[in-house]
Amino acid sequence: MQDWRRSERYLAFSPHPDDAELGCGGTLWSLGRRGAEVHLTVVTDGRLGTRDPGVPPDAVARLRRGEAEAAAAVLGARLHMLGLPDGGPFDAYDLRDRAVREIRRCRPDFVFVCDPWLRYEAHSDHRAVGFAVAEAALLSGLVHYAPDELAPWTVKGILFYFPDRADVLSPLDPEAHAARSRAIACHRSQFGPEDPYLARLDEQMRAQGLQAGAVWAEALHLRTRTDLHIPQPAS
Ligand SMILES: [Zn+2]
Repeated sequence: MQDWRRSERYLAFSPHPDDAELGCGGTLWSLGRRGAEVHLTVVTDGRLGTRDPGVPPDAVARLRRGEAEAAAAVLGARLHMLGLPDGGPFDAYDLRDRAVREIRRCRPDFVFVCDPWLRYEAHSDHRAVGFAVAEAALLSGLVHYAPDELAPWTVKGILFYFPDRADVLSPLDPEAHAARSRAIACHRSQFGPEDPYLARLDEQMRAQGLQAGAVWAEALHLRTRTDLHIPQPAS
């Protein structure tokens, strides 16, 4: 399964514009740089992402679409925006079906999504999208599940970013780290140049890099499809 780095196609799901860039942006850029096809599906429109009461939600969503397009271009990813309302509510089955359609349309070997089992993950969009995508990775290859014009597609595995338990450290070289930073900087409405949240993430990536023999590394948790549905040996 460690061959996840050598596959041809990847699909990253992001609950909001910016999450995948923050969680695995350097890795996505590196995969694209190596010649892989990288897709990025942003599930919600990010309309809640402002503290300025003078900016209406529709305007925030429009602004964030432009930011997501710029960031995807930096990462070399093909962007798909599902446009669901930021903050929900979502129907879990509808979300799962949408994730299955994305997988069948993009036909990735591996899927990235935020880890819904992250302890203390307070944002329901992150939990809902993580659970929906994990289940979609199980179901997308079944011929009788949500049949439509798209052929079933079986993924090899799923990589959770912002994982509760990291078991893969993806080293970033300076170019990949710089590309990640440029992609995040596209989300101007969300982060200032000296943002403490970004500084904290960078500190974590440096600590992970020390373990991975690099300056920076992104933490991931890798599961095969069947590992999503059977008991795991204690580790
Ligand atoms: Zn988010």
